Amino acid sequence: MSSNGPDTSGHKGTLIVTGGSRGIGAAVARRAARDGWAVAVAYSQDSQGAEAVARDIAAAGGHAQAVHCEVTVEADIPALFTFAADRLGPITGLVNNAGITGPVSRVADLKTADLERLVAVNVTGAILCAREAVRRLSTARGGAGGAIVNISSAAARLGGPGELVAYAATKGAIDSLTVGLAREVADEGIRVNGVAPGLIETGIHAAAGAPDRLARLGPAVPIGRAGSAEEVAEAVVWLLSPAASYVTGTTIDVTGGR
Ligand code: NDP
Repeated sequence: MSSNGPDTSGHKGTLIVTGGSRGIGAAVARRAARDGWAVAVAYSQDSQGAEAVARDIAAAGGHAQAVHCEVTVEADIPALFTFAADRLGPITGLVNNAGITGPVSRVADLKTADLERLVAVNVTGAILCAREAVRRLSTARGGAGGAIVNISSAAARLGGPGELVAYAATKGAIDSLTVGLAREVADEGIRVNGVAPGLIETGIHAAAGAPDRLARLGPAVPIGRAGSAEEVAEAVVWLLSPAASYVTGTTIDVTGGR
Protein backbone atom coordinates (compact mmCIF):
# COMPACT_ATOMS: atom_id res chain seq x y z
CA MET A 1 0.00 0.00 0.00
CA SER A 2 1.34 3.37 -0.97
CA SER A 3 -1.27 5.61 0.61
CA ASN A 4 -3.00 4.99 3.92
CA GLY A 5 -5.92 7.37 3.87
CA PRO A 6 -7.90 9.75 1.73
CA ASP A 7 -5.66 12.55 0.56
CA THR A 8 -7.42 14.69 -1.97
CA SER A 9 -4.93 17.55 -1.83
CA GLY A 10 -3.92 18.80 -5.23
CA HIS A 11 -5.32 16.02 -7.40
CA LYS A 12 -8.12 16.04 -9.91
CA GLY A 13 -9.99 13.00 -8.59
CA THR A 14 -9.52 9.28 -8.31
CA LEU A 15 -9.03 7.19 -11.44
CA ILE A 16 -9.61 3.44 -11.49
CA VAL A 17 -7.48 1.52 -13.99
CA THR A 18 -8.47 -2.12 -14.38
CA GLY A 19 -5.57 -4.34 -15.36
CA GLY A 20 -3.15 -1.73 -14.06
CA SER A 21 -0.47 -4.21 -13.02
CA ARG A 22 1.39 -4.29 -16.35
CA GLY A 23 1.34 -3.36 -20.01
CA ILE A 24 -0.96 -0.58 -21.17
CA GLY A 25 -2.80 -0.32 -17.84
CA ALA A 26 0.43 0.23 -15.91
CA ALA A 27 1.53 2.93 -18.37
CA VAL A 28 -1.86 4.64 -18.09
CA ALA A 29 -1.68 4.56 -14.29
CA ARG A 30 1.78 6.12 -14.25
CA ARG A 31 0.93 8.77 -16.86
CA ALA A 32 -2.39 9.67 -15.21
CA ALA A 33 -0.64 10.11 -11.86
CA ARG A 34 1.74 12.58 -13.51
CA ASP A 35 -1.35 14.44 -14.71
CA GLY A 36 -2.63 14.79 -11.14
CA TRP A 37 -4.93 11.79 -10.77
CA ALA A 38 -4.92 9.62 -7.67
CA VAL A 39 -4.87 6.13 -9.16
CA ALA A 40 -6.36 2.84 -8.05
CA VAL A 41 -4.14 0.29 -9.77
CA ALA A 42 -6.37 -2.78 -10.07
CA TYR A 43 -5.01 -6.26 -10.68
CA SER A 44 -6.32 -9.79 -10.90
CA GLN A 45 -3.25 -12.02 -10.40
CA ASP A 46 -0.20 -9.80 -10.48
CA SER A 47 -0.26 -8.12 -7.07
CA GLN A 48 3.49 -7.51 -7.23
CA GLY A 49 3.18 -5.68 -10.53
CA ALA A 50 0.37 -3.48 -9.22
CA GLU A 51 2.21 -2.77 -5.97
CA ALA A 52 5.31 -1.80 -7.96
CA VAL A 53 3.28 0.63 -10.11
CA ALA A 54 1.69 2.17 -7.00
CA ARG A 55 5.12 2.45 -5.33
CA ASP A 56 6.61 4.19 -8.38
CA ILE A 57 3.75 6.68 -8.40
CA ALA A 58 4.14 7.38 -4.68
CA ALA A 59 7.92 7.76 -5.10
CA ALA A 60 7.26 10.41 -7.73
CA GLY A 61 5.03 12.30 -5.30
CA GLY A 62 1.68 10.98 -6.53
CA HIS A 63 -1.12 9.05 -4.88
CA ALA A 64 -1.85 5.43 -5.73
CA GLN A 65 -3.15 2.23 -4.29
CA ALA A 66 -2.91 -1.32 -5.60
CA VAL A 67 -6.32 -3.02 -5.36
CA HIS A 68 -7.41 -6.55 -6.20
CA CYS A 69 -10.24 -6.86 -8.74
CA GLU A 70 -10.95 -9.92 -10.84
CA VAL A 71 -13.43 -8.47 -13.33
CA THR A 72 -15.23 -11.80 -13.80
CA VAL A 73 -16.18 -11.81 -10.11
CA GLU A 74 -19.12 -9.43 -9.93
CA ALA A 75 -18.70 -8.57 -6.25
CA ASP A 76 -15.08 -7.53 -6.80
CA ILE A 77 -16.17 -4.54 -8.88
CA PRO A 78 -18.19 -2.49 -6.34
CA ALA A 79 -15.61 -3.54 -3.74
CA LEU A 80 -12.86 -2.02 -5.91
CA PHE A 81 -14.71 1.27 -6.28
CA THR A 82 -15.54 1.49 -2.56
CA PHE A 83 -11.98 0.67 -1.49
CA ALA A 84 -10.51 3.15 -3.96
CA ALA A 85 -12.89 5.93 -2.91
CA ASP A 86 -12.19 5.32 0.78
CA ARG A 87 -8.41 5.31 0.33
CA LEU A 88 -7.94 7.90 -2.41
CA GLY A 89 -11.05 10.10 -2.54
CA PRO A 90 -14.11 10.35 -4.81
CA ILE A 91 -13.94 8.43 -8.08
CA THR A 92 -14.18 10.57 -11.20
CA GLY A 93 -12.60 8.32 -13.81
CA LEU A 94 -12.44 4.74 -15.05
CA VAL A 95 -10.12 3.17 -17.59
CA ASN A 96 -11.68 -0.11 -18.65
CA ASN A 97 -8.42 -1.77 -19.66
CA ALA A 98 -8.37 -5.34 -18.27
CA GLY A 99 -8.38 -7.71 -21.20
CA ILE A 100 -7.15 -10.97 -22.66
CA THR A 101 -6.81 -12.26 -26.22
CA GLY A 102 -7.38 -15.93 -25.46
CA PRO A 103 -5.22 -18.45 -27.29
CA VAL A 104 -4.49 -17.80 -30.96
CA SER A 105 -6.88 -19.99 -32.92
CA ARG A 106 -8.92 -20.11 -36.09
CA VAL A 107 -12.66 -19.93 -35.34
CA ALA A 108 -13.13 -23.54 -36.46
CA ASP A 109 -10.75 -24.65 -33.73
CA LEU A 110 -12.02 -22.33 -30.99
CA LYS A 111 -12.67 -24.01 -27.66
CA THR A 112 -15.99 -23.05 -26.04
CA ALA A 113 -14.38 -22.56 -22.64
CA ASP A 114 -11.84 -20.12 -24.13
CA LEU A 115 -14.64 -18.17 -25.83
CA GLU A 116 -16.65 -17.98 -22.62
CA ARG A 117 -13.64 -16.68 -20.70
CA LEU A 118 -12.92 -14.11 -23.41
CA VAL A 119 -16.45 -12.73 -23.27
CA ALA A 120 -16.52 -12.80 -19.46
CA VAL A 121 -13.33 -10.73 -19.15
CA ASN A 122 -13.46 -8.44 -22.19
CA VAL A 123 -17.19 -7.79 -22.50
CA THR A 124 -19.10 -8.64 -19.32
CA GLY A 125 -16.28 -7.43 -17.06
CA ALA A 126 -15.97 -4.15 -18.95
CA ILE A 127 -19.73 -3.51 -18.95
CA LEU A 128 -20.00 -4.27 -15.23
CA CYS A 129 -17.14 -1.84 -14.50
CA ALA A 130 -18.84 0.80 -16.65
CA ARG A 131 -22.11 0.15 -14.82
CA GLU A 132 -20.45 0.70 -11.46
CA ALA A 133 -18.77 3.87 -12.68
CA VAL A 134 -22.01 5.32 -14.04
CA ARG A 135 -23.85 4.53 -10.81
CA ARG A 136 -21.27 6.52 -8.87
CA LEU A 137 -20.42 9.32 -11.32
CA SER A 138 -23.86 10.23 -12.65
CA THR A 139 -24.93 13.73 -11.67
CA ALA A 140 -28.52 12.45 -11.87
CA ARG A 141 -27.64 10.08 -9.00
CA GLY A 142 -25.81 12.67 -6.92
CA GLY A 143 -22.35 12.02 -8.36
CA ALA A 144 -19.85 14.59 -9.56
CA GLY A 145 -19.61 13.42 -13.17
CA GLY A 146 -16.41 12.18 -14.77
CA ALA A 147 -14.97 10.25 -17.68
CA ILE A 148 -14.68 6.64 -18.82
CA VAL A 149 -12.17 5.37 -21.37
CA ASN A 150 -12.66 1.89 -22.79
CA ILE A 151 -9.62 0.14 -24.25
CA SER A 152 -10.69 -1.36 -27.55
CA SER A 153 -8.41 -2.64 -30.31
CA ALA A 154 -7.72 -1.98 -33.96
CA ALA A 155 -8.72 -5.64 -34.28
CA ALA A 156 -12.36 -4.61 -33.80
CA ARG A 157 -12.31 -3.35 -37.39
CA LEU A 158 -9.48 -5.44 -38.87
CA GLY A 159 -11.13 -8.62 -37.60
CA GLY A 160 -8.08 -10.65 -36.55
CA PRO A 161 -8.52 -13.25 -39.30
CA GLY A 162 -6.60 -16.50 -38.84
CA GLU A 163 -5.82 -16.03 -35.17
CA LEU A 164 -7.94 -13.65 -33.10
CA VAL A 165 -11.43 -13.32 -34.64
CA ALA A 166 -13.28 -13.98 -31.37
CA TYR A 167 -11.07 -11.48 -29.52
CA ALA A 168 -11.74 -8.91 -32.24
CA ALA A 169 -15.47 -9.47 -31.82
CA THR A 170 -15.24 -8.74 -28.09
CA LYS A 171 -13.54 -5.44 -28.94
CA GLY A 172 -16.32 -4.67 -31.44
CA ALA A 173 -18.66 -4.99 -28.47
CA ILE A 174 -16.51 -2.49 -26.58
CA ASP A 175 -16.78 0.03 -29.42
CA SER A 176 -20.55 -0.36 -29.30
CA LEU A 177 -20.50 0.13 -25.53
CA THR A 178 -18.56 3.36 -26.00
CA VAL A 179 -21.00 4.83 -28.50
CA GLY A 180 -24.18 3.75 -26.73
CA LEU A 181 -23.17 4.56 -23.18
CA ALA A 182 -21.76 7.94 -24.21
CA ARG A 183 -25.14 8.95 -25.59
CA GLU A 184 -27.01 7.46 -22.64
CA VAL A 185 -25.10 9.41 -19.99
CA ALA A 186 -24.05 12.55 -21.88
CA ASP A 187 -26.51 14.65 -19.88
CA GLU A 188 -25.38 13.07 -16.59
CA GLY A 189 -21.92 14.67 -16.59
CA ILE A 190 -20.13 11.59 -17.89
CA ARG A 191 -18.05 11.36 -21.06
CA VAL A 192 -17.36 7.92 -22.50
CA ASN A 193 -14.64 7.37 -25.10
CA GLY A 194 -12.38 4.62 -26.34
CA VAL A 195 -8.80 4.10 -27.44
CA ALA A 196 -8.08 1.44 -30.05
CA PRO A 197 -4.43 0.43 -29.88
CA GLY A 198 -2.76 -1.34 -32.78
CA LEU A 199 0.26 -3.57 -32.26
CA ILE A 200 1.67 -2.59 -28.86
CA GLU A 201 4.70 -4.07 -27.13
CA THR A 202 3.29 -5.81 -24.05
CA GLY A 203 3.18 -9.34 -22.72
CA ILE A 204 -0.27 -9.99 -24.19
CA HIS A 205 1.19 -11.45 -27.42
CA ALA A 206 3.24 -14.10 -25.64
CA ALA A 207 0.22 -14.89 -23.45
CA ALA A 208 -1.77 -15.56 -26.63
CA GLY A 209 0.82 -18.16 -27.63
CA ALA A 210 2.28 -15.94 -30.36
CA PRO A 211 5.50 -14.41 -28.98
CA ASP A 212 6.66 -13.76 -32.56
CA ARG A 213 3.70 -11.48 -33.39
CA LEU A 214 5.56 -8.25 -32.66
CA ALA A 215 8.54 -9.18 -34.85
CA ARG A 216 6.30 -10.63 -37.55
CA LEU A 217 3.75 -7.82 -37.77
CA GLY A 218 5.79 -4.79 -36.67
CA PRO A 219 7.45 -4.07 -40.04
CA ALA A 220 4.02 -4.06 -41.75
CA VAL A 221 2.80 -1.17 -39.61
CA PRO A 222 2.98 2.01 -41.74
CA ILE A 223 5.11 3.75 -39.07
CA GLY A 224 7.37 0.66 -39.28
CA ARG A 225 7.30 -0.61 -35.73
CA ALA A 226 5.09 -1.72 -32.85
CA GLY A 227 3.95 1.01 -30.48
CA SER A 228 4.67 1.38 -26.78
CA ALA A 229 2.23 1.28 -23.90
CA GLU A 230 3.30 4.84 -23.09
CA GLU A 231 2.17 6.02 -26.54
CA VAL A 232 -1.29 4.56 -25.86
CA ALA A 233 -1.39 6.14 -22.40
CA GLU A 234 -1.00 9.63 -23.86
CA ALA A 235 -4.29 9.31 -25.76
CA VAL A 236 -6.08 7.79 -22.77
CA VAL A 237 -5.03 10.55 -20.38
CA TRP A 238 -5.98 13.23 -22.90
CA LEU A 239 -9.48 11.76 -23.23
CA LEU A 240 -9.81 11.76 -19.44
CA SER A 241 -8.71 15.37 -19.15
CA PRO A 242 -10.73 18.59 -19.30
CA ALA A 243 -8.96 19.28 -22.61
CA ALA A 244 -11.35 16.70 -24.09
CA SER A 245 -14.45 18.25 -22.50
CA TYR A 246 -16.47 18.21 -25.77
CA VAL A 247 -15.34 14.74 -26.87
CA THR A 248 -17.63 11.82 -26.14
CA GLY A 249 -18.70 8.64 -27.91
CA THR A 250 -15.57 8.38 -30.01
CA THR A 251 -12.70 5.90 -30.21
CA ILE A 252 -9.23 7.14 -31.07
CA ASP A 253 -6.88 4.87 -33.04
CA VAL A 254 -3.32 4.61 -31.74
CA THR A 255 -2.09 2.27 -34.43
CA GLY A 256 0.89 3.77 -36.22
CA GLY A 257 -1.39 4.03 -39.26
CA ARG A 258 -2.24 0.33 -39.36
P1 NDP B 1 -1.21 -7.36 -20.68
O1 NDP B 1 -1.40 -8.81 -20.85
O2 NDP B 1 0.16 -6.79 -20.62
O3 NDP B 1 -2.00 -6.85 -19.38
C1 NDP B 1 -3.34 -7.26 -19.19
C2 NDP B 1 -3.85 -6.66 -17.90
O4 NDP B 1 -5.22 -7.06 -17.75
C3 NDP B 1 -3.10 -7.14 -16.69
O5 NDP B 1 -2.92 -6.07 -15.79
C4 NDP B 1 -4.04 -8.18 -16.09
O6 NDP B 1 -3.99 -8.25 -14.67
C5 NDP B 1 -5.38 -7.66 -16.47
N1 NDP B 1 -6.36 -8.73 -16.50
C6 NDP B 1 -6.41 -9.81 -17.33
N2 NDP B 1 -7.47 -10.58 -17.02
C7 NDP B 1 -8.10 -9.97 -15.99
C8 NDP B 1 -9.25 -10.29 -15.23
N3 NDP B 1 -9.97 -11.39 -15.48
N4 NDP B 1 -9.62 -9.44 -14.25
C9 NDP B 1 -8.92 -8.32 -13.99
N5 NDP B 1 -7.81 -7.98 -14.66
C10 NDP B 1 -7.41 -8.80 -15.66
O7 NDP B 1 -2.05 -6.71 -21.88
P2 NDP B 1 -2.01 -5.28 -22.57
O8 NDP B 1 -1.51 -4.26 -21.65
O9 NDP B 1 -1.41 -5.46 -23.89
O10 NDP B 1 -3.58 -5.07 -22.83
C11 NDP B 1 -4.36 -4.13 -22.13
C12 NDP B 1 -5.61 -3.86 -22.95
O11 NDP B 1 -5.23 -3.36 -24.23
C13 NDP B 1 -6.44 -5.11 -23.21
O12 NDP B 1 -7.82 -4.78 -23.12
C14 NDP B 1 -6.08 -5.49 -24.63
O13 NDP B 1 -7.09 -6.20 -25.27
C15 NDP B 1 -5.87 -4.11 -25.23
N6 NDP B 1 -5.05 -4.11 -26.46
C16 NDP B 1 -3.73 -4.48 -26.43
C17 NDP B 1 -2.99 -4.46 -27.61
C18 NDP B 1 -1.56 -4.85 -27.67
O14 NDP B 1 -1.03 -5.00 -28.80
N7 NDP B 1 -0.87 -5.03 -26.58
C19 NDP B 1 -3.61 -4.04 -28.88
C20 NDP B 1 -4.99 -3.66 -28.77
C21 NDP B 1 -5.66 -3.70 -27.60
P3 NDP B 1 -3.11 -9.38 -13.88
O15 NDP B 1 -1.70 -9.14 -14.37
O16 NDP B 1 -3.30 -9.07 -12.45
O17 NDP B 1 -3.65 -10.70 -14.33
